[in-house]
Amino acid sequence: MHPIILFVGYLLITITPLLLGALQNLPPRPLLDEIATGLGMTAFAILLVEFVLSGRFRTISGRVGMDVTMRFHQLVARTALLFILVHPYLYSTSPFGTPLPWDATGELTLGLDTGSLITGLIAWMALPCFVLMAIFRDQLPYRYEVWRAMHAIGAVVIAAAVTHHALEAGRYSADPWLAGFWFVLLGLALASLGWTYVIAPLRQARHPYEVTSVRKIALKTWELALRPKRGDALDFEAGQFAWITLGHSPFSLQENPFSISSAPAERPDIRFVIKEVGDSTRRIGDVKRGTVAWLGDAHGNLTLTGRKAKGIALIAGGVGIAPLLSIARQMRAEDDPRPMILLYGNRVAEQIVYADELEGLSGRPNMEVVQIVSEPRPDWAGRVGLIDRETIGQVFGFEDAAEWLYILCGPPAMLESVEDALLAHGVAGNQIVAEQFYYD
Ligand SMILES: Cc1cc2nc3c(=O)[nH]c(=O)nc-3n(C[C@H](O)[C@H](O)[C@H](O)COP(=O)(O)OP(=O)(O)OC[C@H]3O[C@@H](n4cnc5c(N)ncnc54)[C@H](O)[C@@H]3O)c2cc1C
Repeated sequence: MHPIILFVGYLLITITPLLLGALQNLPPRPLLDEIATGLGMTAFAILLVEFVLSGRFRTISGRVGMDVTMRFHQLVARTALLFILVHPYLYSTSPFGTPLPWDATGELTLGLDTGSLITGLIAWMALPCFVLMAIFRDQLPYRYEVWRAMHAIGAVVIAAAVTHHALEAGRYSADPWLAGFWFVLLGLALASLGWTYVIAPLRQARHPYEVTSVRKIALKTWELALRPKRGDALDFEAGQFAWITLGHSPFSLQENPFSISSAPAERPDIRFVIKEVGDSTRRIGDVKRGTVAWLGDAHGNLTLTGRKAKGIALIAGGVGIAPLLSIARQMRAEDDPRPMILLYGNRVAEQIVYADELEGLSGRPNMEVVQIVSEPRPDWAGRVGLIDRETIGQVFGFEDAAEWLYILCGPPAMLESVEDALLAHGVAGNQIVAEQFYYD
């Protein structure tokens, strides 16, 4: 779906509770009280939509990218946290059942019963812990899978507490239309969770794969090859990624996202380039041939589809080469006539994958591969340095190169500096597509 439609849809959903509240025409209250209630209701809507945003739906992340979707998810979670923290402090009214002395009619009394006070407090205290645990995920002594399970359970507990609090304590949420809205949103949130943890694994279970080879192809870097045990292989576009589960049940949370490095034209074989970084990737070399594997749907917008380009510039840092290899291989398989330059940077030459194949690509009339290494050994004959503005200028020339499509993949810092360099060379922002491997 187009990003603008998504954004407008998102805004509409988050302001609907305010509109439904305004339509109730309840007697006016002090402005701060209305703001407090408005912030609480908006935060509740944001929290429920968070389930859908993190649900790996291609309709949502297909055009904007999964990394952008996840960054938006993180940003709005922090916004909702702020709203919820402020929410109780803005009320000028008594949160308890007994009217304050100056409120003879009880109109300024929120009338929280013990139950709704407790659920409100639970959400109010749990949400900061929950968001902090997400921000400092990498510093926590838990494996990613354990953190993910805690994140899902925590989200359900908070959503349940807020629902109870809103329906019991809310001045506006008792209204059947608004209550109905909350139930629909809650239903969507739970359905997203059901999709991620039940339906998607069930779909995967019908299409088992097996590992056909695991081999070391560079320093701390492995090639993993899979083939479906039955039926067709995953439908994907060059440049996309998929979540893989190796040797565990598809219902386990032991899945990791990896870009597909082989071309769609090579199906049913599907290959990945995997770098050792953590718990499971460090053990990738121990995976045996014949190990069962499960693949989720293909995601990611690092693709050529629907994009105009006179030429294709692929800029990779380290293992970011994986999706770009898929694109280069597919262009080779289709004899794509457009010029293509692959600029591939590494710290040391030992990190370079498929050196021979890259040399072969470079030998084709419309394709060129430029390698650059930042810490070369004395025998390195290629370029030395980083993929910076100067290197980019030298490699792409920039006459009609500004009308090329630039596809970037690599560490976050590299992506940022390469994007800045391309913009400085006059490349339009919409001609640059980037994806990072880390959802920070
Ligand atoms: C879209 C995308 C494409 C990727 N493609 C590649 C690739 O082609 N080759 C490659 O080597 N690496 C790729 N990665 C990175 C790869 O997913 C992580 O390095 C890997 O999951 C780490 O797993 P681990 O168990 O070894 O490390 P852990 O110690 O478990 O985790 C290290 C870090 O990796 C990230 N991570 C771990 N598991 C997941 C998960 N299930 N979902 C999201 N992030 C996770 C987290 O940030 C975590 O903090 C990609 C990541 C993303 C998001």
